Amino acid sequence: MTEVMDPGVIRAVLQDRKIAYFVTDRTLKIVESFGATEPFCEHGGTCLGGYLPDWVPELLSCEETLGSILAGELPRFELNWVNREREEDQTLYLTMVTMPWRDANGEICGLLHVIQDITEVGIIDQQLSHQRNELSLLKAQLEQQNHVLAAANVELQHLADLKAQFVMMTAHELRTPLTAIRGYVEMLLDDDFGPLPAEPREALTLVSQSVSRLQMITEALMDATRIETGRVELLLQPEDLLEIVRKILAEFELQLQKKAQQLVLCVPPSLPSVLCDRTRMEQIVSNLLSNAHRYTPEGGQITVRLLLVEEQEVVRLVVEDTGIGITAEDQPKIFERFFRSGDARRAESRGIGLGLYLTQALVALQGGEIWFESVPGGGSKFYVSIPIAAHST
Ligand code: ADP
Repeated sequence: MTEVMDPGVIRAVLQDRKIAYFVTDRTLKIVESFGATEPFCEHGGTCLGGYLPDWVPELLSCEETLGSILAGELPRFELNWVNREREEDQTLYLTMVTMPWRDANGEICGLLHVIQDITEVGIIDQQLSHQRNELSLLKAQLEQQNHVLAAANVELQHLADLKAQFVMMTAHELRTPLTAIRGYVEMLLDDDFGPLPAEPREALTLVSQSVSRLQMITEALMDATRIETGRVELLLQPEDLLEIVRKILAEFELQLQKKAQQLVLCVPPSLPSVLCDRTRMEQIVSNLLSNAHRYTPEGGQITVRLLLVEEQEVVRLVVEDTGIGITAEDQPKIFERFFRSGDARRAESRGIGLGLYLTQALVALQGGEIWFESVPGGGSKFYVSIPIAAHST
């Protein structure tokens, strides 16, 4: 049974798919054509009766292959990306598939050349390869920049190492004579070399305070360098935060009294232990208390609170003061290295702007969080959360 297809349908499908064809006899003379064969036919005229390789010279080098198809030895032959220049600088891309054409007896009597317009695919392909080229160019540029950056990084790292070494060495060198000076000053103040008259005692007290300050600065510089070079060693173990707070408050008692600052301590009846490094935790509490004390005028109030935040499994320390506060403009900067606000400089000459930088880093190293609230002229509230130790009650 032979299937008969409606020629109208075939025509519509071929046109929609942008398919055209030529039928040639065994001598490659065009005997039939259909569809948009114009790119091959001079001035859009008909090619009927012409010798196909005259219109498609690409076939000239393929005579042997075409012979094999005519001999029934090869089922098909494909010419891809045949291009023809159109007007307006446009290029038309086509494929041409050649296959045997048989007569009613099934004998090969010629060739069928099916042509499909693949210009759209061609344009997309061209754009793609253009983009691919651009990408590989960008990649090469990026690689080059990466090399430059890597070299700059090595140099920067080297300079950072040199800076760290220099700071550590200098601080170390200062530490030894400072300890000696402090020792002798304390012996003098303790009357170890005989009773001291009031005047030199007063002068030596000032020397002692200055030495303490210098010692504090050298320690802070060494700590900052340790943090930057990742060399802070922590001994994390369950600690009683209230005990730490009480110890530091005791150390500050005299200073607070001198400024007539009132201290309020609010703690719940019981608190679980926290997991922290005791010395570093003492440093954190001390830094916050020192700031509250220094940036609060005489007669102000400092409130220290401890509370359990069960759902977050942390104990929270809050240090609140009624001091100068921090302006909205300065607030984002206060954890930066060496930052001191203008208000702070005016209120308190002592300080190098490393306390909060170190405090923030130390809190983070212990798995905690630090943040604050402040109203300019209305006081500040610093919060620190420290994880509670597992199995602590
Ligand atoms: P320092 O106190 O040595 O200046 P810190 O790093 O401890 O350095 O603090 C940085 C800055 O943050 C301070 O100079 C000050 O401007 C601001 N600051 C910190 N704590 C307080 C506070 N309790 N009240 C007001 N300002 C504060």
